[in-house]
Amino acid sequence: MPPDKNLILVLNSGSSSLKFAVQDIAQRTPLLSGLAERLGGMQPVITFKDAEGKRTQPLAEADHGAALDAVLAELAARGWIDQLAAVGHRVVHGGERFTRSVLITPAVIADIEACSPLAPLHNPPALLGIRIALARLPGIPHAAVLDTAFHQTMPPEAYLYAVPMAQYRDWGVRRYGFHGTSHRFVAHEAVAMLGLDPADHGLVTAHLGNGGSATAVQDGRSLDTSMGMTPLEGLVMGTRPGDIDAGAVLHMMRAEGLGVAEMDTMLNKQSGLLGLSELSNDCREVEAAAAEGHVGAKLALEVFAHRLARYVGALAMSLRRLDAVVFTGGIGENSPQVRAMTLARLRPFGMTLDAAANERMIRGAGGVITVAGTGPCAAVVATNEEWMIACDTAELARGASGSLVKGS
Ligand code: ADP
Repeated sequence: MPPDKNLILVLNSGSSSLKFAVQDIAQRTPLLSGLAERLGGMQPVITFKDAEGKRTQPLAEADHGAALDAVLAELAARGWIDQLAAVGHRVVHGGERFTRSVLITPAVIADIEACSPLAPLHNPPALLGIRIALARLPGIPHAAVLDTAFHQTMPPEAYLYAVPMAQYRDWGVRRYGFHGTSHRFVAHEAVAMLGLDPADHGLVTAHLGNGGSATAVQDGRSLDTSMGMTPLEGLVMGTRPGDIDAGAVLHMMRAEGLGVAEMDTMLNKQSGLLGLSELSNDCREVEAAAAEGHVGAKLALEVFAHRLARYVGALAMSLRRLDAVVFTGGIGENSPQVRAMTLARLRPFGMTLDAAANERMIRGAGGVITVAGTGPCAAVVATNEEWMIACDTAELARGASGSLVKGS
Protein backbone atom coordinates (compact mmCIF):
# COMPACT_ATOMS: atom_id res chain seq x y z
CA MET A 1 0.00 0.00 0.00
CA PRO A 2 1.60 3.31 -1.02
CA PRO A 3 2.34 5.77 1.80
CA ASP A 4 0.11 8.49 0.28
CA LYS A 5 -2.97 6.58 1.37
CA ASN A 6 -3.96 8.64 4.37
CA LEU A 7 -7.75 8.41 4.61
CA ILE A 8 -9.86 6.10 6.76
CA LEU A 9 -13.55 5.60 6.04
CA VAL A 10 -15.45 5.03 9.30
CA LEU A 11 -18.83 3.31 8.99
CA ASN A 12 -21.58 2.82 11.56
CA SER A 13 -24.32 0.78 10.01
CA GLY A 14 -27.69 0.71 11.81
CA SER A 15 -30.98 -0.91 10.91
CA SER A 16 -32.30 2.08 8.97
CA SER A 17 -29.24 4.32 8.77
CA LEU A 18 -25.61 4.45 7.73
CA LYS A 19 -23.40 6.94 9.54
CA PHE A 20 -20.03 7.66 7.99
CA ALA A 21 -16.94 9.78 8.44
CA VAL A 22 -13.81 10.26 6.38
CA GLN A 23 -10.84 10.83 8.66
CA ASP A 24 -7.39 11.97 7.65
CA ILE A 25 -5.20 9.95 10.00
CA ALA A 26 -3.20 13.05 10.84
CA GLN A 27 -6.15 15.11 12.11
CA ARG A 28 -8.99 14.65 14.54
CA THR A 29 -11.76 16.51 12.75
CA PRO A 30 -13.30 14.49 9.94
CA LEU A 31 -12.85 15.86 6.42
CA LEU A 32 -16.37 14.69 5.62
CA SER A 33 -19.10 13.06 7.66
CA GLY A 34 -22.77 12.36 7.34
CA LEU A 35 -25.74 10.12 7.63
CA ALA A 36 -27.95 8.16 5.25
CA GLU A 37 -31.41 7.84 6.77
CA ARG A 38 -34.75 6.11 6.22
CA LEU A 39 -33.07 3.07 4.66
CA GLY A 40 -35.77 0.46 4.16
CA GLY A 41 -38.39 3.22 4.28
CA MET A 42 -39.84 6.01 2.16
CA GLN A 43 -37.81 8.91 0.72
CA PRO A 44 -34.34 7.85 1.82
CA VAL A 45 -31.85 10.71 2.01
CA ILE A 46 -28.17 11.20 2.61
CA THR A 47 -26.59 14.22 4.26
CA PHE A 48 -22.96 15.22 3.73
CA LYS A 49 -21.24 17.58 6.14
CA ASP A 50 -17.84 19.20 5.78
CA ALA A 51 -16.09 22.44 6.70
CA GLU A 52 -18.11 24.24 4.00
CA GLY A 53 -21.51 23.20 5.36
CA LYS A 54 -24.25 20.60 4.93
CA ARG A 55 -25.98 19.14 1.89
CA THR A 56 -28.85 16.64 1.79
CA GLN A 57 -29.82 14.70 -1.33
CA PRO A 58 -32.19 11.84 -2.11
CA LEU A 59 -30.86 8.29 -2.44
CA ALA A 60 -31.52 6.22 -5.56
CA GLU A 61 -32.65 3.22 -3.46
CA ALA A 62 -33.63 2.79 0.17
CA ASP A 63 -30.91 0.32 1.05
CA HIS A 64 -27.47 0.26 2.62
CA GLY A 65 -25.82 -0.56 -0.72
CA ALA A 66 -27.23 2.59 -2.33
CA ALA A 67 -26.15 4.60 0.71
CA LEU A 68 -22.57 3.37 0.51
CA ASP A 69 -22.56 3.91 -3.25
CA ALA A 70 -23.54 7.54 -2.63
CA VAL A 71 -20.72 7.92 -0.09
CA LEU A 72 -18.20 6.40 -2.52
CA ALA A 73 -19.48 8.58 -5.37
CA GLU A 74 -18.88 11.63 -3.16
CA LEU A 75 -15.38 10.40 -2.33
CA ALA A 76 -14.69 9.81 -6.03
CA ALA A 77 -15.91 13.33 -6.89
CA ARG A 78 -13.43 14.69 -4.37
CA GLY A 79 -10.63 12.51 -5.80
CA TRP A 80 -10.25 10.63 -2.51
CA ILE A 81 -10.83 6.99 -3.53
CA ASP A 82 -7.15 6.34 -4.26
CA GLN A 83 -6.25 7.83 -0.88
CA LEU A 84 -8.44 5.40 1.07
CA ALA A 85 -6.19 3.27 3.27
CA ALA A 86 -8.76 1.25 5.18
CA VAL A 87 -12.34 1.04 6.44
CA GLY A 88 -13.24 0.96 10.15
CA HIS A 89 -16.60 -0.53 11.10
CA ARG A 90 -18.31 0.16 14.40
CA VAL A 91 -19.81 -3.02 15.83
CA VAL A 92 -21.92 -2.94 19.00
CA HIS A 93 -21.55 -6.43 20.45
CA GLY A 94 -18.44 -8.55 20.50
CA GLY A 95 -19.51 -10.76 23.41
CA GLU A 96 -16.53 -12.50 25.00
CA ARG A 97 -14.94 -13.10 21.62
CA PHE A 98 -13.31 -9.70 21.12
CA THR A 99 -11.01 -7.98 23.59
CA ARG A 100 -9.76 -5.39 21.10
CA SER A 101 -10.28 -4.06 17.59
CA VAL A 102 -9.44 -6.54 14.83
CA LEU A 103 -8.91 -6.77 11.09
CA ILE A 104 -11.95 -8.31 9.45
CA THR A 105 -11.54 -11.86 8.16
CA PRO A 106 -14.14 -14.55 7.44
CA ALA A 107 -13.53 -15.90 10.96
CA VAL A 108 -14.16 -12.45 12.47
CA ILE A 109 -17.39 -12.13 10.52
CA ALA A 110 -18.47 -15.53 11.85
CA ASP A 111 -17.64 -14.40 15.41
CA ILE A 112 -19.64 -11.16 15.05
CA GLU A 113 -22.50 -13.25 13.69
CA ALA A 114 -22.24 -15.55 16.68
CA CYS A 115 -22.72 -12.49 18.92
CA SER A 116 -25.90 -11.43 17.09
CA PRO A 117 -28.27 -13.12 19.58
CA LEU A 118 -26.82 -10.76 22.22
CA ALA A 119 -27.58 -7.67 20.09
CA PRO A 120 -30.27 -8.69 17.60
CA LEU A 121 -31.06 -5.09 16.64
CA HIS A 122 -27.45 -3.98 16.18
CA ASN A 123 -25.10 -6.72 15.00
CA PRO A 124 -27.06 -7.83 11.89
CA PRO A 125 -27.09 -4.32 10.33
CA ALA A 126 -23.40 -3.91 11.21
CA LEU A 127 -22.68 -7.19 9.40
CA LEU A 128 -24.69 -5.98 6.44
CA GLY A 129 -22.56 -2.83 6.33
CA ILE A 130 -19.37 -4.88 6.54
CA ARG A 131 -20.40 -7.20 3.72
CA ILE A 132 -21.45 -4.37 1.45
CA ALA A 133 -18.25 -2.42 2.12
CA LEU A 134 -16.07 -5.51 1.58
CA ALA A 135 -17.74 -6.09 -1.78
CA ARG A 136 -17.20 -2.49 -2.90
CA LEU A 137 -13.74 -1.94 -1.41
CA PRO A 138 -12.12 -5.38 -1.56
CA GLY A 139 -8.55 -4.16 -2.03
CA ILE A 140 -8.03 -2.42 1.33
CA PRO A 141 -8.08 -3.66 4.95
CA HIS A 142 -11.33 -3.48 6.94
CA ALA A 143 -11.36 -3.40 10.74
CA ALA A 144 -14.06 -4.03 13.34
CA VAL A 145 -14.09 -1.77 16.41
CA LEU A 146 -16.38 -3.19 19.07
CA ASP A 147 -18.27 -1.26 21.75
CA THR A 148 -17.89 -4.10 24.23
CA ALA A 149 -14.18 -4.87 23.73
CA PHE A 150 -12.82 -2.29 26.19
CA HIS A 151 -14.86 -3.81 29.02
CA GLN A 152 -13.50 -7.31 28.56
CA THR A 153 -10.93 -6.50 31.27
CA MET A 154 -13.70 -6.46 33.91
CA PRO A 155 -13.11 -9.15 36.54
CA PRO A 156 -15.75 -11.87 37.08
CA GLU A 157 -17.02 -10.24 40.28
CA ALA A 158 -17.95 -7.18 38.21
CA TYR A 159 -19.39 -8.94 35.17
CA LEU A 160 -21.32 -11.84 36.70
CA TYR A 161 -24.98 -11.58 37.65
CA ALA A 162 -25.90 -13.65 40.68
CA VAL A 163 -28.29 -15.86 38.73
CA PRO A 164 -27.76 -19.62 38.24
CA MET A 165 -24.38 -20.10 36.52
CA ALA A 166 -26.09 -22.19 33.84
CA GLN A 167 -27.57 -18.93 32.47
CA TYR A 168 -24.06 -17.60 31.93
CA ARG A 169 -22.73 -20.86 30.52
CA ASP A 170 -25.68 -21.61 28.24
CA TRP A 171 -26.83 -18.16 27.18
CA GLY A 172 -24.00 -15.75 27.85
CA VAL A 173 -26.02 -13.94 30.53
CA ARG A 174 -23.44 -11.58 32.06
CA ARG A 175 -22.56 -7.91 31.99
CA TYR A 176 -20.67 -6.80 28.87
CA GLY A 177 -20.88 -3.00 28.96
CA PHE A 178 -21.07 -0.62 25.99
CA HIS A 179 -19.73 2.77 24.80
CA GLY A 180 -16.28 1.19 25.17
CA THR A 181 -14.77 3.22 22.35
CA SER A 182 -15.86 6.47 24.00
CA HIS A 183 -14.79 5.49 27.52
CA ARG A 184 -11.38 4.39 26.21
CA PHE A 185 -10.94 7.62 24.26
CA VAL A 186 -11.96 10.05 27.01
CA ALA A 187 -9.96 8.17 29.66
CA HIS A 188 -6.88 8.46 27.45
CA GLU A 189 -7.54 12.15 26.82
CA ALA A 190 -8.19 12.87 30.50
CA VAL A 191 -4.93 11.22 31.55
CA ALA A 192 -3.05 13.48 29.13
CA MET A 193 -5.07 16.60 30.04
CA LEU A 194 -4.71 16.14 33.79
CA GLY A 195 -1.04 15.09 33.64
CA LEU A 196 -1.77 11.69 35.21
CA ASP A 197 0.51 8.67 34.97
CA PRO A 198 -0.74 6.40 32.13
CA ALA A 199 0.30 3.41 34.24
CA ASP A 200 -1.13 4.64 37.56
CA HIS A 201 -4.49 6.39 37.53
CA GLY A 202 -8.10 5.90 38.56
CA LEU A 203 -11.01 7.52 36.73
CA VAL A 204 -14.75 7.29 36.51
CA THR A 205 -15.79 8.27 32.98
CA ALA A 206 -19.44 9.23 32.44
CA HIS A 207 -20.66 9.10 28.83
CA LEU A 208 -24.02 10.86 28.87
CA GLY A 209 -25.76 10.96 25.50
CA ASN A 210 -29.19 9.61 24.57
CA GLY A 211 -27.87 6.41 26.08
CA GLY A 212 -25.53 6.75 29.03
CA SER A 213 -22.99 4.73 30.94
CA ALA A 214 -20.24 5.24 33.49
CA THR A 215 -17.03 3.24 33.74
CA ALA A 216 -14.29 2.71 36.31
CA VAL A 217 -10.98 2.98 34.44
CA GLN A 218 -7.75 2.09 36.18
CA ASP A 219 -4.40 2.33 34.38
CA GLY A 220 -6.22 2.45 31.03
CA ARG A 221 -8.35 -0.63 31.72
CA SER A 222 -12.08 -0.92 32.37
CA LEU A 223 -12.73 -2.56 35.75
CA ASP A 224 -16.48 -2.06 36.00
CA THR A 225 -19.21 -0.30 34.05
CA SER A 226 -22.85 0.60 34.52
CA MET A 227 -24.37 -1.00 31.40
CA GLY A 228 -24.88 -4.72 31.52
CA MET A 229 -25.82 -7.55 29.21
CA THR A 230 -27.81 -4.97 27.27
CA PRO A 231 -27.72 -1.15 27.30
CA LEU A 232 -30.73 -1.08 29.66
CA GLU A 233 -28.80 -1.34 32.91
CA GLY A 234 -27.28 1.47 34.92
CA LEU A 235 -27.84 5.20 34.53
CA VAL A 236 -31.09 6.99 33.78
CA MET A 237 -31.09 7.69 30.01
CA GLY A 238 -33.25 9.56 27.52
CA THR A 239 -35.85 6.81 27.20
CA ARG A 240 -34.42 3.97 29.35
CA PRO A 241 -34.78 3.68 33.11
CA GLY A 242 -31.35 2.22 33.82
CA ASP A 243 -31.41 0.09 36.97
CA ILE A 244 -34.80 -1.18 37.97
CA ASP A 245 -35.78 -3.98 40.32
CA ALA A 246 -36.44 -7.03 38.11
CA GLY A 247 -39.37 -7.66 40.48
CA ALA A 248 -40.90 -4.34 39.44
CA VAL A 249 -40.70 -5.39 35.80
CA LEU A 250 -42.44 -8.67 36.60
CA HIS A 251 -45.03 -6.79 38.62
CA MET A 252 -45.84 -4.36 35.78
CA MET A 253 -46.14 -7.25 33.35
CA ARG A 254 -48.60 -9.03 35.64
CA ALA A 255 -50.50 -5.92 36.72
CA GLU A 256 -50.99 -4.51 33.23
CA GLY A 257 -51.00 -7.82 31.37
CA LEU A 258 -48.02 -6.69 29.28
CA GLY A 259 -46.25 -9.06 26.91
CA VAL A 260 -42.49 -9.20 26.40
CA ALA A 261 -42.60 -6.89 23.37
CA GLU A 262 -44.67 -4.28 25.19
CA MET A 263 -42.42 -4.37 28.24
CA ASP A 264 -39.40 -4.09 25.95
CA THR A 265 -40.93 -0.96 24.40
CA MET A 266 -41.67 0.58 27.79
CA LEU A 267 -38.12 -0.03 29.01
CA ASN A 268 -36.32 1.04 25.83
CA LYS A 269 -38.54 3.80 24.49
CA GLN A 270 -40.89 5.22 27.13
CA SER A 271 -38.86 5.47 30.31
CA GLY A 272 -35.89 7.55 31.50
CA LEU A 273 -36.09 11.35 31.19
CA LEU A 274 -39.13 10.97 28.94
CA GLY A 275 -41.00 8.66 31.31
CA LEU A 276 -40.28 10.78 34.38
CA SER A 277 -40.86 14.21 32.86
CA GLU A 278 -43.79 13.07 30.71
CA LEU A 279 -42.43 15.68 28.34
CA SER A 280 -39.25 14.83 26.46
CA ASN A 281 -36.27 12.50 26.26
CA ASP A 282 -34.09 15.43 25.25
CA CYS A 283 -32.09 16.82 28.17
CA ARG A 284 -32.08 20.34 26.72
CA GLU A 285 -35.88 20.40 26.60
CA VAL A 286 -36.16 18.89 30.07
CA GLU A 287 -33.78 21.54 31.44
CA ALA A 288 -35.72 24.35 29.74
CA ALA A 289 -39.01 23.07 31.18
CA ALA A 290 -37.49 22.64 34.64
CA ALA A 291 -36.28 26.25 34.51
CA GLU A 292 -39.87 27.31 33.94
CA GLY A 293 -41.04 25.31 36.95
CA HIS A 294 -42.26 22.07 35.31
CA VAL A 295 -42.41 19.66 38.26
CA GLY A 296 -41.91 16.46 36.25
CA ALA A 297 -38.91 17.91 34.43
CA LYS A 298 -37.28 18.95 37.72
CA LEU A 299 -37.88 15.51 39.17
CA ALA A 300 -36.44 13.83 36.06
CA LEU A 301 -33.20 15.81 36.41
CA GLU A 302 -32.97 15.05 40.14
CA VAL A 303 -33.36 11.31 39.53
CA PHE A 304 -30.86 11.48 36.65
CA ALA A 305 -28.23 13.23 38.79
CA HIS A 306 -28.88 11.09 41.86
CA ARG A 307 -28.41 7.88 39.89
CA LEU A 308 -25.29 9.17 38.21
CA ALA A 309 -23.70 10.25 41.50
CA ARG A 310 -24.63 6.92 43.05
CA TYR A 311 -22.87 5.13 40.19
CA VAL A 312 -19.78 7.31 40.36
CA GLY A 313 -19.54 6.44 44.05
CA ALA A 314 -20.08 2.74 43.47
CA LEU A 315 -17.70 2.51 40.52
CA ALA A 316 -14.96 4.33 42.44
CA MET A 317 -14.89 1.34 44.81
CA SER A 318 -13.32 -0.74 42.02
CA LEU A 319 -10.40 1.67 41.84
CA ARG A 320 -7.21 1.87 43.85
CA ARG A 321 -7.74 5.64 44.01
CA LEU A 322 -10.10 8.13 42.36
CA ASP A 323 -8.19 10.85 40.50
CA ALA A 324 -11.00 12.29 38.42
CA VAL A 325 -14.60 12.07 37.30
CA VAL A 326 -14.79 12.73 33.56
CA PHE A 327 -17.94 13.94 31.81
CA THR A 328 -18.55 13.37 28.10
CA GLY A 329 -21.34 12.80 25.52
CA GLY A 330 -23.97 15.36 24.48
CA ILE A 331 -25.15 15.96 28.05
CA GLY A 332 -21.76 15.54 29.74
CA GLU A 333 -20.14 17.99 27.32
CA ASN A 334 -22.91 20.58 27.23
CA SER A 335 -24.91 20.64 30.43
CA PRO A 336 -23.35 22.66 33.26
CA GLN A 337 -26.59 22.04 35.17
CA VAL A 338 -26.39 18.23 35.13
CA ARG A 339 -22.69 18.36 36.01
CA ALA A 340 -23.32 20.75 38.90
CA MET A 341 -26.23 18.68 40.22
CA THR A 342 -24.11 15.53 40.07
CA LEU A 343 -21.04 17.04 41.73
CA ALA A 344 -23.21 18.49 44.50
CA ARG A 345 -24.04 14.89 45.35
CA LEU A 346 -20.40 13.81 45.33
CA ARG A 347 -19.41 15.88 48.38
CA PRO A 348 -18.00 12.85 50.25
CA PHE A 349 -15.21 12.78 47.64
CA GLY A 350 -14.24 16.32 48.62
CA MET A 351 -14.79 17.94 45.22
CA THR A 352 -15.82 21.59 45.00
CA LEU A 353 -17.37 22.86 41.78
CA ASP A 354 -15.66 25.76 40.03
CA ALA A 355 -18.90 27.35 38.81
CA ALA A 356 -17.29 29.66 36.26
CA ALA A 357 -15.19 26.88 34.73
CA ASN A 358 -18.26 24.63 34.64
CA GLU A 359 -20.21 27.23 32.65
CA ARG A 360 -17.33 27.60 30.18
CA MET A 361 -17.13 23.89 29.32
CA ILE A 362 -19.68 23.62 26.52
CA ARG A 363 -19.66 22.91 22.80
CA GLY A 364 -16.46 20.91 22.72
CA ALA A 365 -14.47 22.91 25.29
CA GLY A 366 -12.69 20.59 27.69
CA GLY A 367 -11.08 21.17 31.06
CA VAL A 368 -11.25 20.90 34.83
CA ILE A 369 -14.48 22.08 36.49
CA THR A 370 -13.53 21.72 40.15
CA VAL A 371 -11.49 23.95 42.45
CA ALA A 372 -7.90 22.73 42.76
CA GLY A 373 -7.37 20.86 46.02
CA THR A 374 -6.09 17.62 47.41
CA GLY A 375 -8.99 15.36 46.43
CA PRO A 376 -10.15 14.08 43.07
CA CYS A 377 -11.15 16.56 40.38
CA ALA A 378 -13.91 16.59 37.78
CA ALA A 379 -13.29 17.38 34.12
CA VAL A 380 -15.06 17.61 30.79
CA VAL A 381 -13.61 15.88 27.72
CA ALA A 382 -15.29 15.91 24.31
CA THR A 383 -15.58 12.38 22.99
CA ASN A 384 -14.58 11.48 19.43
CA GLU A 385 -15.54 7.90 18.66
CA GLU A 386 -14.97 8.26 14.91
CA TRP A 387 -11.41 9.38 15.51
CA MET A 388 -10.79 6.48 17.90
CA ILE A 389 -12.18 4.03 15.33
CA ALA A 390 -9.98 5.62 12.65
CA CYS A 391 -6.91 5.36 14.91
CA ASP A 392 -7.53 1.67 15.65
CA THR A 393 -8.19 0.99 11.98
CA ALA A 394 -5.05 2.84 10.88
CA GLU A 395 -2.95 0.95 13.39
CA LEU A 396 -4.31 -2.42 12.26
CA ALA A 397 -3.90 -1.48 8.60
CA ARG A 398 -0.34 -0.37 9.29
CA GLY A 399 0.34 -3.76 10.85
CA ALA A 400 -1.21 -5.41 7.81
CA SER A 401 0.85 -3.47 5.28
CA GLY A 402 3.60 -1.78 7.24
CA SER A 403 3.37 1.31 5.04
CA LEU A 404 0.50 3.47 6.29
CA VAL A 405 1.51 7.03 7.12
CA LYS A 406 1.79 7.32 10.89
CA GLY A 407 -0.85 9.58 12.43
CA SER A 408 -0.19 12.17 15.09
P1 ADP B 1 -26.16 10.13 21.09
O1 ADP B 1 -26.11 9.26 22.29
O2 ADP B 1 -27.38 9.89 20.25
O3 ADP B 1 -24.86 10.23 20.32
P2 ADP B 1 -25.50 12.78 22.08
O4 ADP B 1 -24.21 12.35 22.67
O5 ADP B 1 -25.48 13.74 20.94
O6 ADP B 1 -26.45 11.58 21.69
O7 ADP B 1 -26.36 13.44 23.27
C1 ADP B 1 -27.67 13.83 23.10
C2 ADP B 1 -28.15 14.46 24.39
O8 ADP B 1 -27.33 15.60 24.70
C3 ADP B 1 -29.59 14.94 24.33
O9 ADP B 1 -30.29 14.59 25.52
C4 ADP B 1 -29.41 16.45 24.27
O10 ADP B 1 -30.51 17.13 24.82
C5 ADP B 1 -28.18 16.62 25.13
N1 ADP B 1 -27.63 17.97 24.95
C6 ADP B 1 -27.04 18.49 23.85
N2 ADP B 1 -26.76 19.81 24.06
C7 ADP B 1 -27.18 20.10 25.32
C8 ADP B 1 -27.17 21.27 26.12
N3 ADP B 1 -26.68 22.42 25.67
N4 ADP B 1 -27.69 21.19 27.37
C9 ADP B 1 -28.20 20.04 27.83
N5 ADP B 1 -28.23 18.90 27.13
C10 ADP B 1 -27.73 18.92 25.89
